[in-house]
Amino acid sequence: MNIILMGLPGAGKGTQADQIVEKYNIPHISTGDMFRAAIQEGTELGIKAKAYMDQGALVPDEVTVGIVRERLSKSDCEKGFLLDGFPRTVPQAEALDELLADMDRQIEHVLNIEVEQDELVKRLTGRRICKVCGTSYHLQFNPPKVEGKCDKDGGELYQREDDNPETVKNRLEVNMTQTAPLLAFYNAKGVLANVDGQQDIDDVFKALDEILQKDGQ
Ligand code: AMP
Repeated sequence: MNIILMGLPGAGKGTQADQIVEKYNIPHISTGDMFRAAIQEGTELGIKAKAYMDQGALVPDEVTVGIVRERLSKSDCEKGFLLDGFPRTVPQAEALDELLADMDRQIEHVLNIEVEQDELVKRLTGRRICKVCGTSYHLQFNPPKVEGKCDKDGGELYQREDDNPETVKNRLEVNMTQTAPLLAFYNAKGVLANVDGQQDIDDVFKALDEILQKDGQ
């Protein structure tokens, strides 16, 4: 099953992605996570990406498409994959179509999680992440048991540099302007499904799963 998960930053893509990949046993491919890992490792890719990410800007397509091509050619993607955070622009979507066509494959589902902008700003600025295991918390909606510490391993919680209010607004604007044509692109192909992301987490998953089950037979 070849899936793209879409939604603005803070829509809950990460949470839903975890559940989908567990159920369907496919890898979760997040370009944001790949860039953050590269930054932590201090690779050349990380140094290039950081300058863009810190401003909430998109990393150039040639860099981004390159890392996705490399990742999708790995053997764990043979049964399918879930892309999260990619493609973000129509040129990226076209590049993805081309590289999948070379592998005799195509995108089967584009799942778009919809959440209003005010709600997104609230969600993003309150987000805190464990330095050790990457688990995400929210100061208001999902606080850790002990302030500033991860429930799982006691690791210190931090705020992503691009989750501060100024950068958040810029990220949302960049994303909205660029994803509207992308949604139209996949809608025209008949693979887009929109899901209400302001329901309970479990209900969002149910709605997504129904779409995958219905069409995946
Ligand atoms: P995310 O974790 O998906 O919110 O991504 C964090 C940041 O990584 C973005 O603000 C971009 O700077 C960069 N990034 C992630 N995915 C892409 C992509 N498909 N194209 C360009 N930049 C990306």
